[in-house]
Amino acid sequence: MTETSLPKGRNSIDQNQFLTILSREEALERFEAALFPRDVPSEQRKLAGALGCTLAGDVVSPIDVPPFDRSNVDGFAVRSADLASATEFAPGHLMLNEEVIACGVAPAHPVLSGTATQIATGGPIPRGADAVVMVEHTQPSGVRAIEVRRGTSPGQFVSFAGSDIARGEVLLRAGTVIGSREIGMLAACGIAAVQVARSPRVAVMSTGDELVQPGEPLPPAAIYDTNGAIVTAAINENGGNAVFYGAVPDDEEQLEAAMRKALAGSDMVVLSGGTSKSAGDVSHRICARLGQPGIIAHGVALKPGKPLCLAVCDGKPVVILPGFPTSAMFTFHDMIVPVLRRWAGLPPRSDAKVTAKVPVRIASDLGRTEFVMVSLVEGVDGLIAYPSGKGSGAITSFAQADGFLRIDALADQMPAGTEAGVTLFTPHVRVPDLVIVGSHCTGLDLVTAPLARSGLAVRTIAVGSLGGLAAAKRGECDFAPIHLFDDKSETYNTPFLAQGLELVPGWRRMQGIVFQQGDQRFEGLSVEQAVRAAIADPGCIMVNRNQGAGTRILIDRLLGEARPDGYWNQPRSHNAVAAAVAQGRADWGMTIGPVARASNLGFIPLAEEHYDFALVTARKHRPAVQAFLNALASNEVRAALVNAGFRPA
Ligand code: AMP
Ligand code: MG
Repeated sequence: MTETSLPKGRNSIDQNQFLTILSREEALERFEAALFPRDVPSEQRKLAGALGCTLAGDVVSPIDVPPFDRSNVDGFAVRSADLASATEFAPGHLMLNEEVIACGVAPAHPVLSGTATQIATGGPIPRGADAVVMVEHTQPSGVRAIEVRRGTSPGQFVSFAGSDIARGEVLLRAGTVIGSREIGMLAACGIAAVQVARSPRVAVMSTGDELVQPGEPLPPAAIYDTNGAIVTAAINENGGNAVFYGAVPDDEEQLEAAMRKALAGSDMVVLSGGTSKSAGDVSHRICARLGQPGIIAHGVALKPGKPLCLAVCDGKPVVILPGFPTSAMFTFHDMIVPVLRRWAGLPPRSDAKVTAKVPVRIASDLGRTEFVMVSLVEGVDGLIAYPSGKGSGAITSFAQADGFLRIDALADQMPAGTEAGVTLFTPHVRVPDLVIVGSHCTGLDLVTAPLARSGLAVRTIAVGSLGGLAAAKRGECDFAPIHLFDDKSETYNTPFLAQGLELVPGWRRMQGIVFQQGDQRFEGLSVEQAVRAAIADPGCIMVNRNQGAGTRILIDRLLGEARPDGYWNQPRSHNAVAAAVAQGRADWGMTIGPVARASNLGFIPLAEEHYDFALVTARKHRPAVQAFLNALASNEVRAALVNAGFRPA
């Protein structure tokens, strides 16, 4: 068998393909070459059901619109020659004809010279008449006659047949997406149904033993199937008709059966997960034997998104997106949307773009086109694009981001200060009224809640205390929430303020030891006793905090020289400590009271941490800043903070 139909002699079932990484451009080009050109299948739709569909062909008007010469005003149909020289001082006199032409009434009598026929707006112009005189410009004159005191030109107040749309004129072009205006035009021409592109039926599947559908309970080590929902929605957003087939375990037989069924019942299959080359990942192997020519690209120089697998099986596209939701979405938007839209007969997506300055250096892998999600904020002179980098496993960054920028495969970084093009996720930039950049705390949501209710857009970007301070110094935010402990002065936050920043006291958060309720090694002890007991028990595992965290300083003081098992597990947040203990990966750690309470853990209080706000003084006058300060001081918010376990300052 020859392989001339395959791109550059690639073997579609070659197991080592992942080693052959294609550039983004090359992969896209090969994929499109294997799928296009093709005729877009179409179907007939009644007008009522055509909203959002794409016209499969040009629509030509079968009639003139308006279909007859029509009066634009209420008045009298006349022969303009009779009134050519009419003036205030020499009015024209016209005898009225018997009939009155209302809308929908076909005239029966001609307008002869010296006569006029009363006509309503929309009425057909009678034979002989070539103009209409507005009723306001006439006066009754005796019985059945009028006086006209203005000159009248031919065609005055007449819409001629076909002046809006002429019979045979192309009304709408193929590829037009049908909106209410288009439906109106079609209706005006009497067109009741149109030929539209048939939305491709796209089967969506997820794969992974760990996946559980939303709404189901979450067993240990399982995660919710995010891609199923997000890919289904994104396909529907781009002209497809998605059908979700559920999540399939990483079992070659089951997955192959499911994929064959999906492929048979649809025009396209989009699977996510199982593309990396680990033992359990089998989807690409199956993909290679579903039809000809098989795999077009497996491994594309994208970050995130390298394990993307593109295949064409007997004419149908089969795509395997990487498992991480953000990787899945970038690759979907960048590589699959263009193909899907073309397949659906839609024009290429017109992404809104803006230029914004990148405030920090962004490192990038050489040789891979890298996508970076950004949040936009208004800086001193123009938009600032904040990278919201949480790693490819983070899904919230998608919701908080306004768009993304692309770092070229040939660049190993994007230097701070670069003016970068940002592709927006939404058609417009949503510039927030209030920008908070720094350390996040669940208490913060209680303060911003009344602002959000009053219609202010609040943007919170979690970058930690130090990142927040740096942003505040550059004037990129209104507030930086911080909880930084100064070892020397043994005080919180104030020693870290730079010029141009002032401290707004927030609240106190009690820090202490957490353990599983009922753990007799800790119940009823003081912090010092508990730590001593933990160090003495070799089976006891701790969870630490990252260097630089105020909590870490407290832990190190308590431990002295001791380095118990688990010391090097150093997560970066209070919540991660609680999760480690709650899930039994560690026996004890130090976190804040409200977090311990939310996880139902035992808690021995030690010392309060100060969570305050560095306010950029130059932005203090802004209404949203004042609203935040008022909310913070309000009884309602203070009570809510107390209720959640915080102590307002
Ligand atoms: P995989 O491509 O199967 O190796 O998956 C890579 C990562 O993405 C793993 O952490 C998976 O748990 C995760 N993942 C895979 N599929 C999904 C999904 N449908 N929703 C959420 N996460 C997923
Ligand atoms: Mg998997």
